[in-house]
Amino acid sequence: MVIWVASFVLGVLIGSCGTPPSTLSEAPPLGEQLETLAVPSPAVVEQFEKPPLDASAQAIQAAAAQSAAAQSATAQSAAAQTPRVQATVAQAPRVNPPLAQNASPLAQGLPTPPYELLWADTSNYGERYSYDINGTPVYNQPIIVLHETVYSADSAINLFRTHHTDESQQASYHTLIRLNGTVVYVVPPEKRAFGAGNSVFMGANGAETVKTHKSYPPSVNNFAYHISLETPYDGQDEGETHSGYTEAQYRSLAWLVAQSSVPDDRITTHRAVDRSQSRIDPRSFDQTKFFTLLHQLRGVR
Ligand SMILES: [Zn+2]
Repeated sequence: MVIWVASFVLGVLIGSCGTPPSTLSEAPPLGEQLETLAVPSPAVVEQFEKPPLDASAQAIQAAAAQSAAAQSATAQSAAAQTPRVQATVAQAPRVNPPLAQNASPLAQGLPTPPYELLWADTSNYGERYSYDINGTPVYNQPIIVLHETVYSADSAINLFRTHHTDESQQASYHTLIRLNGTVVYVVPPEKRAFGAGNSVFMGANGAETVKTHKSYPPSVNNFAYHISLETPYDGQDEGETHSGYTEAQYRSLAWLVAQSSVPDDRITTHRAVDRSQSRIDPRSFDQTKFFTLLHQLRGVR
């Protein structure tokens, strides 16, 4: 039996990258694939802070206009999907604007989930680097790594917002999704969240991992965007499974990922990239449901 739960709260990422030496060069942002996941500026937020039903109506009108103009099957699909998502945000305190400059038109036209900005303490994340600790340039394209919180979202957020001088205690995700579907932004996408220490991504390009700290194993953190789903109440243990995630969580996750152009084959899980043999999250995750929703938002057929 694994011991990952026991170590989670005090160190989601014991063995994470921590703070790298200052001699490493800071990397430029990973490019458009992740820039589109940036949260809006305050001015933009204010612009879009309208009653959810107003936002939904606008989206419906936009989709309808697009459909009338183009008579395309894609636009018709957007109009058909909008009311379904509208129901999911009816109780939203506020809505997030479409974040992407290059997300699919379908994703841009849809109402967005409620969100919160609860930034992590700066001790719990770092810069993305263009060179590894040996001075070798790194060119990894972004990946998205999915997690679960095991305990409540608030317990994880409190951990990330706490200043940690001990590097072994430094941990973070970029974004969490509460049980009610609220998206919580924790670390800016251009920063390196400490989400998966001792990890490697096995993809079409072979093994990808970057060592940025002399004392810790290489990891995917330098090119990863970490998203964590709040675990249901019956999952706060070491069990192999639990009752799964809410419909609102799946919809918000698909919406969030659709704001990026990270391809399917670079969307992975902590379990898949972990090399410590101690991480099995996210448990009870329905990949078919997630990718079906994502493809709807991206207009993939
Ligand atoms: Zn994890």
